[in-house]
Amino acid sequence: RIYLDHAAAMPVDPRVIDAALPYLAGKVGNPSGLYEEGLMAKSAIEEARGRVADLINAEDTQSIVFTGGATESNNIAVRGTALRNARTGKKVVTSAIEHISVLNPAKDLQKSGFTYATVPVDPWGVVDCEALREAVTPDTTVTSVMYANNEIGTVEPIREIGEIVHERGKYLHVDATDAGGRIPIDVQRDGIDLLTLSGNQLGGPEGTGALYIRPGVRSQPVVLGGGQERGLRSGTEDLFGIVGMGEAARIAAADMPGERRRLAAIRDRLIEGILTLEEAALTGHPTDRLPHHASFRFSRIEGESIQLGMDFFGVAVATGSACTSRTLEASHVLLAIGLAHAEAHGSMIATLGRSNTTEQVPAVLHAARETVKRLRAITPL
Ligand code: PLP
Repeated sequence: RIYLDHAAAMPVDPRVIDAALPYLAGKVGNPSGLYEEGLMAKSAIEEARGRVADLINAEDTQSIVFTGGATESNNIAVRGTALRNARTGKKVVTSAIEHISVLNPAKDLQKSGFTYATVPVDPWGVVDCEALREAVTPDTTVTSVMYANNEIGTVEPIREIGEIVHERGKYLHVDATDAGGRIPIDVQRDGIDLLTLSGNQLGGPEGTGALYIRPGVRSQPVVLGGGQERGLRSGTEDLFGIVGMGEAARIAAADMPGERRRLAAIRDRLIEGILTLEEAALTGHPTDRLPHHASFRFSRIEGESIQLGMDFFGVAVATGSACTSRTLEASHVLLAIGLAHAEAHGSMIATLGRSNTTEQVPAVLHAARETVKRLRAITPL
């Protein structure tokens, strides 16, 4: 089988398991304990924190808070930071193509008296910086724009966005779930105040994440309890998960230059091959896109049928966001780049990872060609 859905679930790197397993199977102690086992656990957590900080060039390891995943990081960043800073302004702004775990907290803030504005994107999915300039006002506490989009792969001009946000509003939050470990991120260079990372997307365990919070930025917890992780994420630390995420961050940083080049070459061959199929188009930016991300739309066929068809040939691909594909709604991302409802249904996303090779490309192209041909032959559209 050929697995091309790394953005939805990434196989855990064996080196991560080797590093983290001792903390599941023996080396345990509550990190709050002052006895030897506790101190060892605490020191393992701090080492992991340092590795995550290094991956994004954070100025201080204490600016990293471990969470239970990207969804939780996004909730603390958007909802927690807006509520904590409400007396300085009650407006939040996001791009129209954010993940639902950013959009829903932003919408929810309206119940607490916030106004919420979304900023459109162009047909490639790049945020409209003029519209952003108008949307961000002096009472805007949090503006959230993702580093790169999970459905169409487009990388946003974050440094320029950071400048615009800081000219007028307060804090920039960046969801780097899909960009983390794939392309270099430097929170200091890019003027990022809060940044979301997913542990699994780095090759670490599922259900782990981190939030970078620039020193001096205040946020408030979404869950209350014993005050762990600077009080922002109470609850006994997930030692196995945190050590695993730290090791994944270390490996991602070390392997990034090579993997980035290797996967981009496979991606480009996939794109070139798929675009020779009839009525197939690339979605997202042709060049400013994630190195492991190829996304397409096909006229007159449904994404779910494409997924099942490709699966028949032993190829796992995604259609739309993994998180919303159960609802069968048209993707808000594809609608935002200007596609009609009917066009937004025929999407196929291939996201590459360590197991993928150039040798797999012909089999994927064969699967796509046959799938599209069969589906077109039976489509009522
Ligand atoms: N943000 C983005 C851009 C995503 O693609 C995802 C999931 O794929 C998330 C956030 C949520 O991640 P999780 O479900 O691991 O919390």
